[in-house]
Amino acid sequence: MKTLAGILDETSLRLIEATSRSQINKRLTGGTSTGVAVICCSEMCNINSVFPADPKLPIFTWQNLGGCVDDCGGLEDLVASKQISDIIVYGHYGCEIIEVGLRSDPSANGPSTNIYKEVIRRVSGTRNAIKERFGDKFDKHVFQRAVEDFVLRELSELLKLPKISKAAQEGTLKFHAWINHDDTMENATYDPQTESFWVFPDDECH
Ligand SMILES: [Zn+2]
Repeated sequence: MKTLAGILDETSLRLIEATSRSQINKRLTGGTSTGVAVICCSEMCNINSVFPADPKLPIFTWQNLGGCVDDCGGLEDLVASKQISDIIVYGHYGCEIIEVGLRSDPSANGPSTNIYKEVIRRVSGTRNAIKERFGDKFDKHVFQRAVEDFVLRELSELLKLPKISKAAQEGTLKFHAWINHDDTMENATYDPQTESFWVFPDDECH
């Protein structure tokens, strides 16, 4: 069965720490995290409720179309000045931007808005990978796998940025890949050992 394996190489996989949302929040409130950078989709209007409400906590959030790392101005400088200890690439199941990108036909002619073209560009890597895995099938299962693919693909792009890569090699940064379940508000964390996203017991909603 084709899986997410292959998006991240062995070296990158070793840099990812499987940390639950609740553990990150304990680091923040306990003062053991220098700063948490969150890269997520602009559709995620619940992002503030994911972290403790204290405005003094060092949480830096970038929200953009899909949650892309190449659209996070200032992130590399914050990392270089050692103000960040954790970076979270944070997707969400049900992401409409990824769905639009998946359903698009880049070869079709006709008028197209700039934002639509940009969505197609951002989702193209995932679109190709998902087509290879599932053909033209579109259902909830396929869309969920697409969100997972997208998040890991963005994380691999993040690790290519020079200042991020340097900090990663120095061991001063921890990387996390999360996906929010829009319906239950539970948080799935990527676990490099099982190469899958799952909801850790301390992140379960009861
Ligand atoms: Zn989205």
